[in-house]
Amino acid sequence: MTVLGNQAVRDIETVLHPYTNLAAHRDTGPLMLERGKGVFVYDSRGKDYIEGMAGLWCLSLGHGHEELIEAATAQLRKLSFAHLFNGKSHDPAVELAEALKGMAPTPTSKVFFCNSGSEANDTQVKLVRYMNNALGRPAKKKIIARDKAYHGVTVASASLTGLAANHTDFDLPIPGILRTACPHYYRGAQDGESEDDFTSRLAAELEALILAEGPETVAAFIAEPVMGAGGVVVPPASYFPKIQAVCDTYDLYVISDEVICGFGRLGTPFGCQALGFRPDSISVAKALSSAYVPIAAVTVPETMYEATLEASRRIGVFGHGFTYTGHPVAAAVALKTLEIYAREKIVEQVAAKAPQFLAHLRRLADHPLVGNARGLGLVGGIELVADKATKRSFDPKLGVGARCVRFAEEEGLIVRALASDTISICPPMIITPAEIDELFARLDRALARTL
Ligand code: PLP
Repeated sequence: MTVLGNQAVRDIETVLHPYTNLAAHRDTGPLMLERGKGVFVYDSRGKDYIEGMAGLWCLSLGHGHEELIEAATAQLRKLSFAHLFNGKSHDPAVELAEALKGMAPTPTSKVFFCNSGSEANDTQVKLVRYMNNALGRPAKKKIIARDKAYHGVTVASASLTGLAANHTDFDLPIPGILRTACPHYYRGAQDGESEDDFTSRLAAELEALILAEGPETVAAFIAEPVMGAGGVVVPPASYFPKIQAVCDTYDLYVISDEVICGFGRLGTPFGCQALGFRPDSISVAKALSSAYVPIAAVTVPETMYEATLEASRRIGVFGHGFTYTGHPVAAAVALKTLEIYAREKIVEQVAAKAPQFLAHLRRLADHPLVGNARGLGLVGGIELVADKATKRSFDPKLGVGARCVRFAEEEGLIVRALASDTISICPPMIITPAEIDELFARLDRALARTL
């Protein structure tokens, strides 16, 4: 039995942990992290770990970036807080909206700021409803999301999420959310089905769902380009073009959840550009500020803006927004983050480092425990299986993925175990080639111990 230190006992006594097996946590206690520099983070005993998950898919520029610290400090000194309610504004919000409008892969008219990915996707749900009421088609409200999607945990965004743990006993999803298949070829393909046949079948299923519900009732489709928390699912190249065609046919508003894939993670500015679809709107968060401060955003096309303007003329106030919408400190840090991405050519950096990263993943596919290794850009996952030939998963009760994560921590690497014992890897985008090799050397040792 582990003997827990004083800090661990205090944590267990006081903190309700998000996304944690609460029963197991009482026995194991927390990993207490104290400081970080670059891609490394150090625990309270001084042991180093590689940030193999960039925190939670977010710490793109690594720890301790002096320019970001300076941007936050300078803004805190100048104007510590100002809100955007009742038409008030400030330079950092305007400049960040201009920057996002200039770079977004959408026909953007306005930018709406939030504090988290969940709030961004909640905002998407509300804007879709508001727009369709304003356009005089109040029946067109249903939103299609995918099995295994992760769009957040607030009531509406958790309903878009397609993972059981986010619904069970929370009495979710809310009505009006429809579910279509996850494009996981390794798990979802039928015997002998080619990738192309698989994606044609998924597109046909989507179309059948829309027709069964009535196209006049279906408003939007939301997707992550590469699914993150659902298991790092990289769809076949033909998937999104076929899905986009179905969405176009039935006038669906397409939302790309770029919370993980945005700002270069896949080696393109936005994930939808790597996967070949044309969203009407994107949700961004995480790497928008390199995770230094919470901030998120939703892009709003002209049609949506015109509709909300029209509704506001009728109703009065546009009744949505958060105290911290466009917080000046968060906006200043995000602006500096975007400036650093541009100056340091982060998209090109990721594209240049991706082959080395993906070669390590391909090598791991030969490991006896790894059923499937997949990735794109600088994000990847390895799915651990009990039997490679039959793809049989381990009994979840065995906690094989969690054991691998524990061994990785002992070897000095932070990774995460997702559903189906998929180990996810998503390092800071500034990771060097030598650090990529070191990350995988530590993962190799963890896998050898998991066997
Ligand atoms: N969307 C995606 C694709 C995510 O990965 C996440 C979080 O991991 C969210 C939305 C929710 O973001 P947040 O945790 O900031 O609410």
